[in-house]
Parts: sequence; structure tokens; C-alpha cells
Amino acid sequence: MPNTGQGVADETIYAPDIVFPVRRARAILGSQVHNPGGGAAGGDQCDARNYDYPWRDNFCETRSRERSSLNCPSTRIHQGVDIRAGDAAGCRRMRALPQAEHNLYEVVAVDDGFISNVGSFTVDLTANGRIYRYLHLNMTRLQVKTGDAVAKGQMIGYLSNFFGTTPTTFHLHFEIKQNMGSNRWAWVSPYMSLARAYERREAAALAEQTPVDIAGVQGQAP
Ligand SMILES: [Zn+2]
Repeated sequence: MPNTGQGVADETIYAPDIVFPVRRARAILGSQVHNPGGGAAGGDQCDARNYDYPWRDNFCETRSRERSSLNCPSTRIHQGVDIRAGDAAGCRRMRALPQAEHNLYEVVAVDDGFISNVGSFTVDLTANGRIYRYLHLNMTRLQVKTGDAVAKGQMIGYLSNFFGTTPTTFHLHFEIKQNMGSNRWAWVSPYMSLARAYERREAAALAEQTPVDIAGVQGQAP
């Protein structure tokens, strides 16, 4: 997104086999800070524009803290991507609920692995040479605990806005930390991996609907 940091073009799919971390619901990847309701933009986080295309990769987005990746020229970066789920009406429905009751959008394990850490607003899933980090889930309704083995697609919890004492906007912040060999780990952009996983999820959903649609269109067919 213009004027939000220095990006680089990298179409590497670092995690080619993951499932999309949000189950079923429509998902939008884009900046939390630089869109309506964010710190830099003002406005309302439930603005319909936040739930419209295009997606944006905000992995290299500028932050004040020292964080870096081979993917980004700057050493003060976001280091993850932000995923909104549902639509503006869902955002308003969630806002009407107490924080501990946020339960509209299910978040799942992207791969087979185990829960390696649970913090005050983070959950780490370690799997196949990667650590997948989930931020801002409803931490009062987590479906897993540290040490649990989880299967790809298994529910971890609900999308929310937990962020220590001050809630953030409703979104899932998602990171991939990759083992680069020789005990070196590096954060890589999850964007292309998520785009591919979302395409697979939507194609599978469409395939399930297809027989019904064909029957509807070809009502006279033998
Ligand atoms: Zn984020």
C-alpha cells in the first residue's frame, strides 16, 4: 500500500501446503493501521471499505520496533500480515458483544503440529520446520493449550481483538517463522502462502456446491 513502508516483490510460497487459518468466512488481507479504524487513518474499523478487495500484503509495513526480515529493506517492520474476516455487519455484531464472547469466526491450525507457546495474546503452532504465530484471538475461549498436538484444520479459537490491556481492531495477525537450516530462523512473508491457501479453500467450497448448481441449471437433464 503506498506510503506505508518499503516493500519488495517476492512471490515465494514459503508454506505451500497450509490450510487458510480462518474457516469458511470471507477473508480480507490488508493494513489495520492505514485503513479506516486504524491509528494512521482514523474512521471506523467496521467501515465497509475494510471488507472489500483488493488484498494487500502488509508484511513490510513500517513499525517503530526493531524487527526485520530478508523480505524487507527496512529493519522496523510489521513482520506479519493482518486478516479481517466476514463483512462490515459481522464487525458490528462482534462489536456489540463483550470481548470474551467473540465467537463469530473460527480460526484453525494451518498444519499438523503442536502448540509450542500460548502468551497473553499470542498462540504459536510449531509444524514442519515453521512456527506459525496467531495474534489477537479470543484468549478466554482458546480450544488448545501449550503442548497440545493439533491436526491441520483443527479449531484453535475465535478471531477477536485481544492485545494486552487495550484491544486492537478485529483481525487475525498471522506470522510465519521459518527454519533456514543451521539453527537459523527467519520471518518470511505469509502473504503468497495465504493467497494460495485461500484459493484452495474457495475452490473446494465451489466444488462442493457444483452438483447442486448444475442440477438447478439443468433441471431437465436425465
Ligand atoms: Zn498485524
